[in-house]
Amino acid sequence: MEMTLPLDIETVKGFLNPKEGEALYRLAADASDLGPCLEVGSYCGKSTVYIGSACKLMGNTLFALDHHRGSEEHQPGEEYHDSELFDPRAQLMDSFHSFRGNMRRADLEQTVVPVVAPSVVAARHWNTPLGLVFIDGGHSLEAALTDYRSWTRHIVPGGFLAIHDIFPNPEDGGQAPYEIYQLALNSAQFELVEMVETLGILRRIQ
Ligand code: MG
Repeated sequence: MEMTLPLDIETVKGFLNPKEGEALYRLAADASDLGPCLEVGSYCGKSTVYIGSACKLMGNTLFALDHHRGSEEHQPGEEYHDSELFDPRAQLMDSFHSFRGNMRRADLEQTVVPVVAPSVVAARHWNTPLGLVFIDGGHSLEAALTDYRSWTRHIVPGGFLAIHDIFPNPEDGGQAPYEIYQLALNSAQFELVEMVETLGILRRIQ
């Protein structure tokens, strides 16, 4: 299937490389007859455009979950801080304004449902089985474990779990995504489909 995106993806801020994005697009297309997709950690909507475009094509829905107050590394003074995403009135990070504009530009407002809340709050009453869960939220171990425990249990058998920023070598990056990736593999509930750059793709087998 030929991938077509509704905008120049380089105009959307984010940390997903094009190969990873294309893998997510294909995965979302594959997951579409299994259930809706959900991503944790939308930021400005780069992965949302890839996954959402496939969902739109297939008549599926993407729930895009983010509190939009930035992860640890996005806060003022931290390595990935972007002052354009800082709301001076609230004195807080706010990536939702950028995210919302990008969804409008990408014509994805009839496909993407923004869920603006902490992961654990959004999960509290969640009861919808999911075809794909993409985890790219906070990279502290606590945040990654919360996302893993909150969302992977809703993936249907045959559905997909994708985890971003897998670095088996600690010198290359933080270890929390890799830890939940290993947790999934060791649970015997998931099998590895493939790795695309730092994107781990697993399938739920039971
Ligand atoms: Mg990431």
